[in-house]
Amino acid sequence: MDMKKILIIEDEKSISDIIKFNLDKEGFQTETAYDGTIGLEKAQSLAPDLILLDVMLPGIDGFQVCKKIRETSSVPILMLTAKEEEVDKVLGLELGADDYITKPFGMRELIARIKANLRRIELVSSLQNEPSNLREFGNLAIDMNRYEVRKDGVALELTLREFELLRYLAERENKVFSREQLLEEVWGYEYYGDIRTVDVTVRRLREKLEDDSSDPGYIMTKRGIGYYFRRP
Ligand code: CA
Repeated sequence: MDMKKILIIEDEKSISDIIKFNLDKEGFQTETAYDGTIGLEKAQSLAPDLILLDVMLPGIDGFQVCKKIRETSSVPILMLTAKEEEVDKVLGLELGADDYITKPFGMRELIARIKANLRRIELVSSLQNEPSNLREFGNLAIDMNRYEVRKDGVALELTLREFELLRYLAERENKVFSREQLLEEVWGYEYYGDIRTVDVTVRRLREKLEDDSSDPGYIMTKRGIGYYFRRP
């Protein structure tokens, strides 16, 4: 079995130590960084399989680290947020974090989240060996198997969640889904209740897909209900 490498960027040494201890015991290879600057350097030099990223960090804060990492890498980032920092969660997702977990958290929950995120990455890489399953919607071409989207022949860089949301809606053209339904169907296991996650992801998707994200042509809002996909 190949050991997955996890980078822990967390300035509170007691928290970092206990995470490291538990992940090592679970068979992961771990690296630590105690501030944002070192964390960012290690994220780039060590090519980890997943990053645990605290929000409040000395040097560069977690949001900036997340944003910087996303400029060059699609590595899963699981953000560690303090209790009830609702605004922070949404901001983290906007900057490209894949998931977040609220402190204080149990180690079993953390490990379950890590494994779920790693499984999704493995699923994607296995799907990329699948035969192409291209569907065209106007000038948008979506390869449902390979997680690839092209618009006018130009590849778009979508995160996994963005792709999964787009695929879910596009496979069910013109059918309207509530935010709660989308949260359950696309995000599944870990997201209970924070429906703004759906809005944030829709907004990011529109910025990438649409000619004018304020006047969308693919992902439509059904006022008071939710979202649907249509062919322009
Ligand atoms: Ca901290």
